[in-house]
Amino acid sequence: MNDPTREHCASLDREDPLAALRERFALPEGLVYLDGNSLGARPRSAAARAAQVVAEEWGEGLIRSWNDAGWFGLPQRLGDRLAPLVGAGPGELLVTDTTSVNLFKVLAAALRVQAAREPARRVIVSEASNFPTDLYIAQGLADLLQRGHELRLVDSPRQLPDALGADTAVLLLTHVNYRSGEMHDMRALSALAHERGALAVWDLAHSAGAVPVDLRGDGADYAVGCTYKYLNGGPGAPAFLWVAPALREAFWQPLSGWWGHAEPFAMESGYRPAGGVDRFLCGTQAITSLALVECGLEVFEQTDIAALRAKSLRLGDLFIALVEARCGHHPVRLVTPREHARRGSQVCFSHPEGYAVMQALIERGVIGDFRAPDIMRFGFAPLYNRFTDAWDAVEALREVLDSGAWRDARFQRRGTVT
Ligand SMILES: *Cc1c(COP(=O)(O)O)cnc(C)c1O
Repeated sequence: MNDPTREHCASLDREDPLAALRERFALPEGLVYLDGNSLGARPRSAAARAAQVVAEEWGEGLIRSWNDAGWFGLPQRLGDRLAPLVGAGPGELLVTDTTSVNLFKVLAAALRVQAAREPARRVIVSEASNFPTDLYIAQGLADLLQRGHELRLVDSPRQLPDALGADTAVLLLTHVNYRSGEMHDMRALSALAHERGALAVWDLAHSAGAVPVDLRGDGADYAVGCTYKYLNGGPGAPAFLWVAPALREAFWQPLSGWWGHAEPFAMESGYRPAGGVDRFLCGTQAITSLALVECGLEVFEQTDIAALRAKSLRLGDLFIALVEARCGHHPVRLVTPREHARRGSQVCFSHPEGYAVMQALIERGVIGDFRAPDIMRFGFAPLYNRFTDAWDAVEALREVLDSGAWRDARFQRRGTVT
């Protein structure tokens, strides 16, 4: 593609079969929002749903709403609606707790499964470039167990075959890397883990709702992920958790709270795990926040993940071509793989002054984000991002770079959340 014009991008928007879905979101006028991989946009229906939960279900229904408004069953009901997006079946997935907490639960369960099969397997293998919370949780769990458990990190996926040994219990990977946007081959790496006797735990934080995922078909054993990124569940919305049916009842998990008990209201003094995936629940859920996850999931039911993926790749291709054509005389370098099979739904470029450049872009109404040391991230959420968003973002980037506007002192100051 040779330096397309804005008019060409506008014609792509007019022909886009998904264009109407943007109307399902409340996005501020004039803003180019390319950070849906960090916090998804607000579904319009979320405001009314929040009012309903607070005013009617809580205000009027009070405690009756646990049953009458279906609060008890929300983790399972939302799990069933999310399941088709990640290749899971009904009754296999829960929306609950945070990604960090869910990861603790599934890693602990996976280690127990392995302890029963082959006690010598005590190592969790992951990548040094994995999202920090995943590594911290794995370290925390290994420290807690104190039976020779450890976390082993590789610097490149090419080192995985050597790192997975007779001592390895779990391969823990994030499907799409949060910083680079690079996507792993879930099927090949799950198969590699199994070949070496390990279980495969996948973090889908940057995958769910953005790229096709086939947990069952690709041989995953456990998975976790966020709902507040591409799934548009709202800030801090509860996360999800999936366990392969064959492993589900092998063990319970150590956060054995009463919601995961076989009969929570029997109020027994001893723990008996619930059947199925319900044993992966812990305690009382954040219902107000949980209820809003449904507003995001409803929008996905208007389309399918193949159509979303096709649009996401076209947006990414267009953005890459435009940056290279219009900003290529500056030190911007593509970090995300160009190949579709290895790319998630975000496109990252490095620039030595990436932090300041991004702050200048944000001031111009183009919201992406920055990840140290030098990466500018641009997330493309195919439900609501337009081809003209890609054009407008690159035009702002060209202007910031050509003018040197990023050199202003106010763009150099670092805040706590970037
Ligand atoms: C965003 C993200 C998380 C976030 O975990 P929280 O518990 O919701 O803070 C975890 N893992 C990965 C890979 C992420 O990208």
